[in-house]
Amino acid sequence: MDTKIKIGIIICDRYRKCAGGKCLRSMRNREGAFSHYTGQEVELVGYTTCDGCPGGNIEYAGDEMIKNGAQVIHLATGFLVGYPPCPYIDTFKDFLEKRYKIRVVLGTHPIPQKYLDMHTQLGTWEDPAWKPWLADTMTNAETRKAYD
Ligand code: SF4
Repeated sequence: MDTKIKIGIIICDRYRKCAGGKCLRSMRNREGAFSHYTGQEVELVGYTTCDGCPGGNIEYAGDEMIKNGAQVIHLATGFLVGYPPCPYIDTFKDFLEKRYKIRVVLGTHPIPQKYLDMHTQLGTWEDPAWKPWLADTMTNAETRKAYD
């Protein structure tokens, strides 16, 4: 039996040129949102962008990922830390979960410290609703600095 966890990652299109360095590193190290898989094998079965606001590719990316066996879809940390954060996070999560009956995790790699500093100044994450959304990627100061 295949015990690997198969995951797909969707990134915010603002970061479309990103080579995925932080996501792949944290997946390998089981850091940030990938700490869910500590002690388990993980296979990346899809990686794409939302295709720009308002995220037209969310509707299609899920199909391909599911065909490749995805059990979890991560909306990358860029959704949370962008200026501003993606305004559609809730809608995308809800849509993907309801359509595919799979788990959608908010975030991938740990939040870099520089983004926490800037969003603290901006007051972006003051609403308590953000707390569960950031829970997997907030990590600790040492880890955040390592992702700057
Ligand atoms: S803000 Fe949201 S919809 Fe817009 S490009 Fe980023 S992830 Fe896509």
